[in-house]
Amino acid sequence: MEVLKTIKEMKAVSAQARRMGKTIAFVPTMGFFHEGHLSLMREGRRRGDLLVVSLFVNPTQFAPHEDFKNYPRNFGRDCQMAEEVGVDILFAPEVEEMYPPDHQTYVQVEKVTQNLCGKSRPTHFRGVTTVVLMLFEIVTPHVAIFGEKDYQQLVTIRQMARDLHMGVEVVGMPTVREADGLAMSSRNTYLLPEERKAALSLSRSLQRAKELLQKGEQGSRILDEMKKILQSEPFVRTDYIQLCDAYTLEEVDRIEGDVVVALAAYLGKTRLIDNLVYRNPKASRPIAQKDSVKD
Ligand code: AMP
Repeated sequence: MEVLKTIKEMKAVSAQARRMGKTIAFVPTMGFFHEGHLSLMREGRRRGDLLVVSLFVNPTQFAPHEDFKNYPRNFGRDCQMAEEVGVDILFAPEVEEMYPPDHQTYVQVEKVTQNLCGKSRPTHFRGVTTVVLMLFEIVTPHVAIFGEKDYQQLVTIRQMARDLHMGVEVVGMPTVREADGLAMSSRNTYLLPEERKAALSLSRSLQRAKELLQKGEQGSRILDEMKKILQSEPFVRTDYIQLCDAYTLEEVDRIEGDVVVALAAYLGKTRLIDNLVYRNPKASRPIAQKDSVKD
């Protein structure tokens, strides 16, 4: 595995791979790897001749009061883990490389960023799409792999790739969980033991939602049941729980198509998100058709 720090070197490697007719698979990350990240890399390994992973804690997706400074970092361990799953290139630029002092261009996806996390983190997705657009320009991937764990991010990137005719296939991968159900996240490391225990109520409430969806229950009943589970935990402060159309991310009550049940909650100072994507057997269009973003 090669570690590249400059845009110039990264562009040279991707240009050469393209000249040789290689397929470039790309996994953008903020590092502090866990099995969730590794599952995306393994999928990238299957799909690409050249597998590029970026490791960049992107300052523009954090609000001033958020955890950019304290975000967990362990470069040595990350390099070792990436190497073990067969990553070819780890692109790890410094902040100044990506954002020189006169940077002033941002890209904003409009509708799908408004609801859910967009409400409590109004500048977050603008930062995400800006850095992902830059990374796509630098790495020039044929296929880019993202986790469903950050479902709104996945939908937003798909929308951007489609809207800007980027010709990048955006692939979503299922959420990887700890044995007890907690969705893996680099931020889990912030949790105190009692918060870690209470955090299980997030996945438990989604599990309950899944049972109710399978029984054909409607939205308000499902959300009420979930709230009961979350409210029974004194350490959990709910930011939002919503049932949304899986593609537009607009809130729905009647469940007619594919839906996502998404939630965010604070455990002390730590904000965690989790979701459940429910592919409705009664949905009119097959999911593959809606998922496709290939130009
Ligand atoms: P991050 O480093 O947290 O920005 O995440 C980088 C990529 O890994 C994103 O596409 C995330 O959605 C994905 N990811 C993070 N956690 C998980 C997880 N538990 N399972 C699957 N993918 C994940």
